[in-house]
This record gives sequence, C-alpha cells and structure tokens, in this order.
Amino acid sequence: MVDKSGACGIFGTDEPDDMTGGGKLIKITRDHVIYAFSQSDKPAAFVDAGQCVEFETFDCYQGIMLAESSTFRDFDRRFGNPATGPVYVNHAMPGDTLKIEIQKLEVGSVGILDIGGESGALRDAFAGREPVIKRLSVKNGRIDYEGIWVPAKPMIGVIGVAPAGEPVGTLTPMDHGGNMDCTRIEEGATLYLPVYVEGALLSVGDFHAIMGEGEVANCGVEIEGRTVLKVDVLKQTGIAWPVLENEEQWITIAYGATLDEASHKAVVQMFQFLCQKMGLSEVDAGMLLDMAGDLIICQIVNPKKTVRMEVPKWLVHRMQEKDGNFAATTWRTFGDA
Ligand code: CA
Ligand code: CA
Repeated sequence: MVDKSGACGIFGTDEPDDMTGGGKLIKITRDHVIYAFSQSDKPAAFVDAGQCVEFETFDCYQGIMLAESSTFRDFDRRFGNPATGPVYVNHAMPGDTLKIEIQKLEVGSVGILDIGGESGALRDAFAGREPVIKRLSVKNGRIDYEGIWVPAKPMIGVIGVAPAGEPVGTLTPMDHGGNMDCTRIEEGATLYLPVYVEGALLSVGDFHAIMGEGEVANCGVEIEGRTVLKVDVLKQTGIAWPVLENEEQWITIAYGATLDEASHKAVVQMFQFLCQKMGLSEVDAGMLLDMAGDLIICQIVNPKKTVRMEVPKWLVHRMQEKDGNFAATTWRTFGDA
C-alpha cells in the first residue's frame, strides 16, 4: 500500500524538467511519447530509486478527437495509444522488480467515448455504421453523459517497461505490463513489474475517466491526464509478471491469446504467489482461491486479453497466522500483507 508519509505527489509545481534527478519531482511532458515499449528507446529522463515522477499523458487518440469536427478519418492509427516516457530508473537491472506507487492520478476536462469501432463484442451490431463519438465533460469527479452525471473512476490503461526482446506495441499487454486496461490500476495502488533491461524504461498513458470491466465495446472514457508515480527498485525478487496491490487486495494480472489462457495464468500466478511469496501451503492457497478469490476480466478488445485474480489481504494474513507460518521472502517487503 502507499506509504502516505512518503508521498511526494502534488501537481501544480512550476519546476522545470530535471534530467538529473536530485530529489526534485521530475516531470515528463507529452513531448516524449512512444508507440511501442522498446529497449532501444532513448530515455526521457533518468531517476533514482525512491524518486517521484510526474507524467503528462495524451488520450489514446493523441488529442486528435477532441476537436468537435474530427472523425476517425482524421486519426492516423499509427499514432494510437501513445504512452509518455520512457523513464530510466538508475540501478534497475534485469531480474529486479520495479515498484510503482500511483500517488496521484488526475484526468483532463473532456473524455472521448465512441462506439462502432472494429473490435469489441458489439462490432456486428454496429457494422457498417458511422462511428458515434461523444465528447463528455469531466469535472469535480463526475462525467456528464447528456445530463446524467456518472461518478468518475480514473484509471491507467497503459503502464509498462521495455521487454527483453522485440518491441511490443502500446496496444498489447504482456508480462512487461503495457495495455493491461485493469481498473484497479488507480490512485493509491502499487504495481510491481519485472525488469528486463537496465533502467527498466517505464512509460505510461491511455487513461480512462471510467471503464467498465471487460472494456466490452472497444473503449472507456478516453482522456488525457497527469500522474505522479513513486518508483523504486526491489532487487532480484523473482517476479515474472505484473502484481498489483491496494489496501485490501493482492492482484495478479495475466495476459493470453484467449480469455481461457489468460484466466488460467492469472489463477496459477496467484497460487504461486500465495505459496512462494506469502508462505501458504498449497492446500490453503487453493482453498483460499476457492473461497474468496475473484477472477475478473480486464478487457476483451486488445490484441491479447487480460484477466486478473484478486484475493483479500485479510484472509491471506489469517492463513499465515493460522500455522504461525509467516513467509520469510523478499515479498514480505511488498506492502504489509
Ligand atoms: Ca487501453
Ligand atoms: Ca483506452
């Protein structure tokens, strides 16, 4: 969970960009965007472990659709889903884990909601029809859908590090993170990602003012924004896939070509996490999942699907206490579960 005492995330500073670190809040503007996570990308900034970084992000249409007159014909898909970055984290090495505390997440004043795209469960229903685009005002934590005020639930769609091999486009989620579209990646949560290349090369983008679980009809309320992330490096933890925590839960986020594959991986990864990192017996871990593990579809519209497995921390705690069997692993440092 986020250590409030260590919080360093406030917006509104007029500090200039600082490429050297040195304890100041480092700001990455939207001048630095990527369309693929790649180990050959030039860093936008270098930061030390424990530092806070503010990222300014575009919406997934790079702001093009904000103009009332724009249509999808104005949008070059090569520039879809831009992510701001990458940030090089000093001393992050392959095999380490990047710990990312989402200290602040703020979205812009207009979100784009559209229907009639080429993906999603409703593509047949809208086939051959001109896409409908709505520009929704977002203010005071609410989204104005034609006079109906919908409470906003801001989240980060794309967050990831450079993979070891070939670049991975920002539309695709894999074990490096990327386009996971997980609604739990929100303010107050902490994400753990495997580090594959020196410096990790962290980038972030594609915020949503709100998104239904599954992102079933192609998008959420797509919106620009700003986030402050506190980045840290945990040495050689053995994490090989994304793990998320919030005050209440441990969560694994898995990808797959199909929902079946992603679901299976999300469950097995949580099982391994509970046994190897939380010190539960295999029987207790399996029974915990049976009783209280929630398997939830993150999205069905990206080139690979994502599914997450959520477990309540309190029950993990009680299972540990039951046998006096606290795990003595590096994962004990991951929050206070
Ligand atoms: Ca997305
Ligand atoms: Ca999106």
